[in-house]
Amino acid sequence: MSMYHTKTVTELSAMLQAGEVSSVELTRYFLDRIKNSDDKLNSFITVCEEQALAQARESDEKLKAGNAPALTGVPVAHKDIFCTDGVKTSCGSKMLDNFISPYDATVITNMRKAGVVMLGKTNMDEFAMGSSNETSYYGAVKNPWNLKAVPGGSSGGSASAVAARLAPASTGTDTGGSIRQPAAFCGITGLKPTYGRVSRFGMIAFASSLDQAGPMGQSASDCALLLNAMAGFDEKDSTSIEKSVPDYSADLDEPLAGLKIGLPKEYFDHKEGGMNADVEATVKTALEQYKSMGAELIEIELPNSNLSVPVYYVVAPAECSANLSRFDGVRYGYRCEDPKDLNDLYTRSRGEGFGAEVQRRIMVGAYALSSGYYDAYYLKAQQLRHLISDDFKKAYEKVDVIMAPVTPETAFNIGEKTDDPISMYLSDIFTIAVNLAGIPAMSIPVGFVEGMPVGMQIMGNYFEEAKLLNVAHQYQQQTDWHKQMPEEFK
Ligand code: GLN
Repeated sequence: MSMYHTKTVTELSAMLQAGEVSSVELTRYFLDRIKNSDDKLNSFITVCEEQALAQARESDEKLKAGNAPALTGVPVAHKDIFCTDGVKTSCGSKMLDNFISPYDATVITNMRKAGVVMLGKTNMDEFAMGSSNETSYYGAVKNPWNLKAVPGGSSGGSASAVAARLAPASTGTDTGGSIRQPAAFCGITGLKPTYGRVSRFGMIAFASSLDQAGPMGQSASDCALLLNAMAGFDEKDSTSIEKSVPDYSADLDEPLAGLKIGLPKEYFDHKEGGMNADVEATVKTALEQYKSMGAELIEIELPNSNLSVPVYYVVAPAECSANLSRFDGVRYGYRCEDPKDLNDLYTRSRGEGFGAEVQRRIMVGAYALSSGYYDAYYLKAQQLRHLISDDFKKAYEKVDVIMAPVTPETAFNIGEKTDDPISMYLSDIFTIAVNLAGIPAMSIPVGFVEGMPVGMQIMGNYFEEAKLLNVAHQYQQQTDWHKQMPEEFK
């Protein structure tokens, strides 16, 4: 009995290259796992069986011919925010339930060039707005560690699918925590790259100055392989940075002796935001492990971090209200029945096509941008954003990386926070500053509290993804939290 789901992408890639398994066999295996188990999780919106098998056959030809890139034939799932040619691209919304993209996002093109097989498109919060994957038009996603709990969001389907090993790895996007928070809740490894490192072309926009795509996988070394394929300059994205892409797998084995780890005092001993004592203790144990590996722990200050949530909830809604104006019932997407006139067409199409959370954000954003309020809200938020970035710049003069919890608590239950948007927003209290500053950050599994995974965040200076991956990989060489699998999906 083959147990391919117990293998990492790094291992599967080696097996494919050595001809120990074919991509067709591997792809069938994961398609079967999705077929047999995803009704418990709801982690996929679309499964691309035929297309995946065709890509797998192509990959097998390339593997036979020799010199195939490392990811050739590896099956991966993509968040349904990435446009995929000829395949439904819903962004978790009724608005795009009927949208078949006529082109591929650059992330998808890059992954395809690297030989990756697309298993399907994963469930997500509607237009990536949410922290629990409950705002999806396609229903809530379940956490494989406890089917009553949320997987986190907005990349909840991508996290849940990898945690249950329905896919060896996946892609996600992170605007305020949407890769790191679900990675933490589901016990997997996720990386949000530096803003501008991965192209946003063809990735449906939520908040353009914050959105960034990244890998979600079982380990740091898997994320390195995926990032090698995803990253790079793209002339189709005006915010893409023209900077060469290093081999993210090259420095994984560097020893950590002398590494300076900053611990922001604002992120620890946190009295507000419902910081759970056991989560904090679990993170502190991981920090001790780093100390034993030769790292130095240094207390630092990020004095403006208390501003992150309020600043984010002005900037992100403002940008989303502009980005989502294109969904007007005219050009594409949902259109209401029998509109009376143009105004009726706009208002009913948007009123019926968008869910409650998306409408709330659009209203807040339109208000913050309206004349008379722009200076008081949007401009002010942009100014405060600079203070938040400057805090990080100052900190990185003293330390190499910064470590902190990813979330104040482990995965909460489905329905627990749906009536209280503010408490939902606070679950990103430790992740949002990173997006406002544009720096890279990871989430790695560091233990469990009452059977639910705990994530630790590793933040780095601009373009230091390789350092983060090295720091995460060294920890994963000494611990096996990242190898744990939920009982029901073993
Ligand atoms: N939870 C945050 C929000 O709802 C972040 C979402 C994201 O990163 N896409 O805006």
